[in-house]
Amino acid sequence: MEIPPFDNRDGFIWMNGKFVPWNDAKCHVITQGLHYASSVFEGERAYKGKIFKSEEHTKRLFKSAETVGIKIPYTQEEINQAKDELISKMGYQDCYVRPIAWRGSQQMGLSTSNADINVAIAVWDDWASYFKIEDRKAGLRLITSPWKRPAPDTAPCEAKASGPYVICTMSKEYAESNGYNDALMLDYRGYIAEGTGANIFFIKDETIHTPIPDCFLNGITRQTVIEMVTKKGFSVEEKHIMPDEITNYDEAFLTGTAAEITPIQSIDSIKFKTGDESQNFQFMQDYHDLVRS
Ligand code: PMP
Repeated sequence: MEIPPFDNRDGFIWMNGKFVPWNDAKCHVITQGLHYASSVFEGERAYKGKIFKSEEHTKRLFKSAETVGIKIPYTQEEINQAKDELISKMGYQDCYVRPIAWRGSQQMGLSTSNADINVAIAVWDDWASYFKIEDRKAGLRLITSPWKRPAPDTAPCEAKASGPYVICTMSKEYAESNGYNDALMLDYRGYIAEGTGANIFFIKDETIHTPIPDCFLNGITRQTVIEMVTKKGFSVEEKHIMPDEITNYDEAFLTGTAAEITPIQSIDSIKFKTGDESQNFQFMQDYHDLVRS
């Protein structure tokens, strides 16, 4: 299916307290969020008309905003309500939800003292799968990125802030231009960190390992999956993992709101088990059921 361009669509966007026609939801080219990445956002999914962990996502949006010094001029309840109203106005059951807050165009420069704060929410239903469905089934092919996740005192790693995403877009571009689906990012110490927009897990028998989120986002999906598989009797250990250790694992998968659970078939030349018989395939089904329950 051809995905229509994101800057020319029917429907509405919630922008600064009002529902505006999708194609009129614009901002000026002199926007601090554009020039200096003064912007924070969220990525959420609704299933059967209801956003999964809506309040947790809103809480993170406000925490991210606070971290970068953006004061959102709405309450969390107002944002929660706006998201629900927008989904219902768009008539969606399953969709992706993108709230964003940014410093506007009132002043130019790094100073934030007079910057106006804007908030918008857009929803769309054509990210049924963040990765192509055939790639998801076969498992993704990852390449290690030359770009590293920085130290927590170098970038706001717990905030979903637009600035640090340039590392992700450069890594994704590196992967795709080399014929891979995604990139594995290491951190500033050389430990395995995550994918470009998702956390990573490794499986060996009944044991699951995932990197300690001390310099990247502790994803809401990551936390959900840890709880889900623990309930199923697996033991999950958060640990620092060096790249030369991953040959020890049988399987690997990514987790994220957009990616949900997506199996990995290889990282560089290291191969992992995927398909109907794999554990990650079962987890994919379990997660599918959980978010719709
Ligand atoms: N890491 C990065 C860089 C991400 O963009 C995302 C997606 N928000 C995640 C991890 C996973 O976070 P979540 O499960 O909360 O979507």
